[in-house]
Formats: sequence, C-alpha cells, structure tokens
Amino acid sequence: MTYDPQNIFAKILRGEIPCNKIYEDEYALSFHDINPQAPIHALVIPKGPYQSMTDFTAKASSEEISGTLRAIGKVVDILNLPEDGYRVLSNTGTNGGQEVPHLHFHIFGGKRLGRMLV
Ligand code: 5GP
Repeated sequence: MTYDPQNIFAKILRGEIPCNKIYEDEYALSFHDINPQAPIHALVIPKGPYQSMTDFTAKASSEEISGTLRAIGKVVDILNLPEDGYRVLSNTGTNGGQEVPHLHFHIFGGKRLGRMLV
C-alpha cells in the first residue's frame, strides 16, 4: 500500500491539526494521545512518510531509525518514566489493530500496565 498523505498524523506533522507536543527534533515528533489508555499515553512518530514498521525498517535510513528510537528515549526521560517503568508499542496492519496509517510508537506509563495482551 502507498502512504496516504491525508492521514491524521501527516496533518499534525504539517501543522494543519494541533497536537499537545512533548518533543520534536529533525527525525521525530512526540505528542500526547488524544484518547489516553493509561495515565501517561504519548505517541512518537517519525517525520518521514512511513506507514508502518514494515516500510520503516525496509526503507528508512539508519539515521532516521536511530533518530526515532532516540526520540523515544528522550520522551520517556521527559515524562520521568524510566524509574517506574513503561511500555512501548507499535501496532501494524489489520491484525495489529493499526488505526492511523503513519508509523507511531505508543508510550504508556503511570500505572502497572498488567499483561502485554488481553
Ligand atoms: P493505533 O490504533 O493506530 O495504534 O493508534 C492510533 C492512536 O492515535 C490512538 O491511540 C488514537 O487515540 C490516536 N489519535 C487518533 N487521532 C488523533 C489525533 O488527532 N490526535 C492525537 N493526539 N491522537 C490521535
């Protein structure tokens, strides 16, 4: 599938839709999820047009991949999550339950999150 530049996260990246920003650098943008599933629920998205982990890992440069992962590390620090722990999750495709077709990493924290899958 080709990347849809009208997806909601592409609009956030272009500044067409507001977000509650946590962190931004040349590789990634992070903001609070609009419908939080935990006391802390942040999203980190790469700035490039990648639909999912599949095309990100296949097509993104090493700098984009490492930059996005480092952005996740920066965000968990900003949110003071390392001491108590947290969860990073990326849904891909139909079975993964992905709703927005722009790669995003969820960061959950602020409580004991329980088992990985219900
Ligand atoms: P997915 O199900 O694709 O892994 O996760 C998509 C996430 O994006 C959901 O947790 C949803 O609440 C969040 N989301 C959808 N639209 C918006 C939006 O316009 N702004 C923000 N901040 N989050 C959004």
